Amino acid sequence: TVTALNDADRAYELDRAHVFHSWSAQATLDPMVITKAEGSHVWDAEGNRLLDFTSQLVYTNLGHQHPRIVSAIQDQAATLCTVAPQFANGTRSEAARLIASHTPGDLNRVFFTNGGADANEHAIRMARLHTGKHKVLSTYRSYHGGTHLAVNVTGDPRRWPSDNGSDGTVHFFGPFLYRSPFHATTEAEECQRALEHLEQVITLEGASTIAAVVLEPIPGTAGVMIPPAGYLEGVRDLCDRHGIVFIADEVMAGFGRSGKWFALEHADVVPDLLTFAKGVNSGYVPLGGVAINEAIYDTFTDRPYPGGLTYSGHPLACAAAVATIRAMEDDRIVEHAADLGDTVLGPGLCELADKHDWIGEVRGTGAFWAIEFVADQETREPLAPYGGSSPEMAAILAACKRRGLLPFVNFNRIHIVPPLTTTVQEARQGLAILDKALTEARVSAQ
Ligand code: PLP
Repeated sequence: TVTALNDADRAYELDRAHVFHSWSAQATLDPMVITKAEGSHVWDAEGNRLLDFTSQLVYTNLGHQHPRIVSAIQDQAATLCTVAPQFANGTRSEAARLIASHTPGDLNRVFFTNGGADANEHAIRMARLHTGKHKVLSTYRSYHGGTHLAVNVTGDPRRWPSDNGSDGTVHFFGPFLYRSPFHATTEAEECQRALEHLEQVITLEGASTIAAVVLEPIPGTAGVMIPPAGYLEGVRDLCDRHGIVFIADEVMAGFGRSGKWFALEHADVVPDLLTFAKGVNSGYVPLGGVAINEAIYDTFTDRPYPGGLTYSGHPLACAAAVATIRAMEDDRIVEHAADLGDTVLGPGLCELADKHDWIGEVRGTGAFWAIEFVADQETREPLAPYGGSSPEMAAILAACKRRGLLPFVNFNRIHIVPPLTTTVQEARQGLAILDKALTEARVSAQ
């Protein structure tokens, strides 16, 4: 309608006049206006419907406007909008119980934060106080958040401008066979060499100085690299042998994205601390947290934990978490995500890889996939440089959008990360659009 169009124009104008956007040179931006969203779809300013294969920033795990989450937030707002963290509240207690019922092992205590970065900040603070040590080891090709310590722990170009090279952060290489830092040719070799490398880093940095190893059990934004069998078990063993806290960052991979409640379950490993956000409540209200094991909890039974947030365990966010987790259980969403990966996304992406020579590799699990684009399949030269873009990647994105698909693009990769509620038909439709868009972009590049 005319009014809707005018509203969209006004939204755009005011955005450009007053909204300061994340990670961007402000003058170069041309943000798409989203006027409406439902399930796996969003609508743009012109009324075009697009399949959302991004889950926004990989967080609307139950899709847009899920009726159970919307009504839980509405009911909570009508009853009790907010309660400060020092009080007990039924909604928060139930959210913590439900989260603890799904986290592995003895991770039964939950400290709530506002998102993923502050969850990692607090997990590291807990690890430092628990061990009395300071350094934190994390991988290159990782993302842990935008706040001071979280961005320093991060291993991607977003760290560079804020890197103060201190605060005890040290990076190491995780396994990534397609671009192996260890010149490995098999998964088993990659696993063994990656563990030997980590052990050397621990030895040379000094085990007596290292509080924690932080890693994403499946690195997300960095490229959905599924670790080889045995790697996470090996990290667990190294941490045990050297008195190091193992922090698993499940902010993106957790809550069903990988086809398990937590990505660690693919390896049957229990970390000491597990951080979460995003999918815990489909991102309808900001929420994150740290699940804490008994040993670290015991450190703070008599000694105060020196940290807190005004909105820790906000009832509106917790109401959304309760509704999300119950809907996931009732509707067998995690099983559906696993099935989508096994029967549609995995095979469909392999077919695309056979057909399009720009595709170097596809990898993933559940509703968590990456397509690695290369200029040359032999040399594996990326189709866009690390940390940058290219006309070819821009052309693929534009062709997808024109045809009604919103993909998640990062450097030379497209991530296929739709809501876990995406139907088989929608998933097939998205892959068919991508197929046509790749042909179109390739022809236009010649
Ligand atoms: N950790 C991981 C693995 C993430 O993917 C993200 C966000 O993308 C974060 C932490 C940071 O979360 P937030 O943006 O909620 O601070």
